[in-house]
Amino acid sequence: MGNYVIGIDLGGTNLKAGLVDKGGKITHRLSIKTNYNADPQAISNQIFELIYEIIKEAHVKKSDIIGVGLGSPGLIDKKGETIIFSPNLPRWRNIPIKLLVTERFNAPCVLENDANAAAWGEKWVGAGKDVSSLVMLTLGTGIGGGIVIGNKLWRGANNVAAEIGHMIIQMDGPKCSCGNNGCIEAYASATAMVRRFKELLKSGVSSSLKDSREITAKIINDAAFQGDKASLDVIEETGRYLGIALVNIMHILNPEMIVLTGGMIGSGELLMNPIRQVTKQKAFEASYKDTKIVFSQLGNDAGIIGAAGCLLKELEISV
Ligand SMILES: [Zn+2]
Repeated sequence: MGNYVIGIDLGGTNLKAGLVDKGGKITHRLSIKTNYNADPQAISNQIFELIYEIIKEAHVKKSDIIGVGLGSPGLIDKKGETIIFSPNLPRWRNIPIKLLVTERFNAPCVLENDANAAAWGEKWVGAGKDVSSLVMLTLGTGIGGGIVIGNKLWRGANNVAAEIGHMIIQMDGPKCSCGNNGCIEAYASATAMVRRFKELLKSGVSSSLKDSREITAKIINDAAFQGDKASLDVIEETGRYLGIALVNIMHILNPEMIVLTGGMIGSGELLMNPIRQVTKQKAFEASYKDTKIVFSQLGNDAGIIGAAGCLLKELEISV
């Protein structure tokens, strides 16, 4: 039995790999640009090369590798073997990547949705290491999520659970990237926050940010820290929308912990305060009082660590 797992976070921009020890520590890391428009064969070759390269660079023997954990965006089949479709890798359809990796390296591999993998990382060695149930929300361009119940990832009947961003909070609300209207993602993702901010400017609200074409969530955040009232207001409103999502989660699952991660948590307490206020106001007291709301501890590493952890969990080597 080896000592390391290779955890891979397959993103549309970067393909990131880490050599992860059995304690969940990344001892070596490597990242390359994803050739996202390449055909499946070319991208699998990129993954294979990344694995060979990290083994070489870290000076470990192939026999020291337990296997590979792969976190991928998009839809994964019920058995956890095939990437059916990934929005970031438009040419990837029905790719049996688990089998390809297993055959190539003659080692076990698990394939997990990237948000699920990240949630498992936080549960394994991050913010949630002392709880047995948590829900994680990834707050970025879109909103993703992962659910852990009873020390296990909850994948649902068809491996598509935890689409938290597509929780509908307003039947006739703004259009979402998924085609529905009124999803929480259409109100509280970074993209939606920028849209609402631009609407505020159009309505005549004054702000230190004038050129609406250039505005990003990061720019709004920086302006808010400088005291810009419109920016503070839009972040606060985003927090209130997220608070509504958290109330729904608390009422359905009553988890021990809700972990927030992704680029938007850079707003820190500006985002957290309204989330806490709304959950306190609107959730049943028994549903929220023992649920801790925290920021992620592993940040961008959660995907790599969690993917590795998913393999150890499947092989029953870790918790
Ligand atoms: Zn949606």
